[in-house]
Parts: sequence; structure tokens; C-alpha cells
Amino acid sequence: MRVGTGYDIHRLIQGRKLVLGGVVIPFEKGLLGHSDADVVLHALCDALLGAAGLGDIGQHFPDTEPRFKGISSMELLARTFQLVRDKGFSVNNVDTTILAEAPKLDPHRSAMQANMASVLEVSPADVNIKATTMEGLGTIGKGEAIAAMCVVTLQEKY
Ligand code: MG
Repeated sequence: MRVGTGYDIHRLIQGRKLVLGGVVIPFEKGLLGHSDADVVLHALCDALLGAAGLGDIGQHFPDTEPRFKGISSMELLARTFQLVRDKGFSVNNVDTTILAEAPKLDPHRSAMQANMASVLEVSPADVNIKATTMEGLGTIGKGEAIAAMCVVTLQEKY
């Protein structure tokens, strides 16, 4: 059994779509980034890479590369999972915490779980998603950013 952790944060701005866990969520702002800036999937990718001993998302998909501009993070997750699988691992479980003052994420939880589980070849029950606010405190609490933390466990496939 191997464990990996991931963390990501992106700035919230006007004029961008909000994409979390591969779900487009209706909101007045979206996250700024080179890709679709899906912090949930970026934290998940880093946790997967960490557990497999494969470095981090920036090494594999640099945000200086034009070919990753505007890329769906579902695509980044699929490529990351491929790297992990090629190393002989399968996913055991995922646990994610999203830190966001708004919007309410509960209505989107099962769609996010389904997206992540489908790529990782596990059951949605193996992908847990939690959401919390920052009680108005700090950058996230003021609605200027959204962050996500993720823990993944992998097992050897053979
Ligand atoms: Mg990111």
C-alpha cells in the first residue's frame, strides 16, 4: 500500500468557467489558470503521482507549454492515471477536501465522484469528497480563491 497527498489553489476571477472535479458549476466567477484550473483534479493528480513516486503535476504537464493551454483537467487526470497504471499500481481509495466559501458544492458532489471514479477505474464509493468553507477567514474565506487537498492510496496491481 502506498499513500500520496496533493494540494492546489487557484485564484477566482470574473469571466472564467468554474470547473471542479470535472463538473462545470454555475457561479459568477471561475478559476484562473493555464488549463481549466480544476483545483480538485490537480490535487488528485499530485496525490496519484506522489503515491506512485512520480514527482508532481508541474513536471509532467508544465504550464509553460502551449499544448496544455485550456486543456481539460479530466484529460490531465487520464494521462496521470496512465502513468500510475504503467508503474503497476491501481487505486485503492481517494479522499478530497475542497476549501471554498461559495458556491454550495453539495449538489455537485456525486457528479464529481462519478467523473473521478470513471477515470481511476474504481467505484464512486471509493472516491470521497468533502467540502468546507473557511468561515470568512483569509484569501479563500474572502472568496478570492478555491483550494483542494487530496489523499490517495494505491496498491500494487500484480
Ligand atoms: Mg493547479
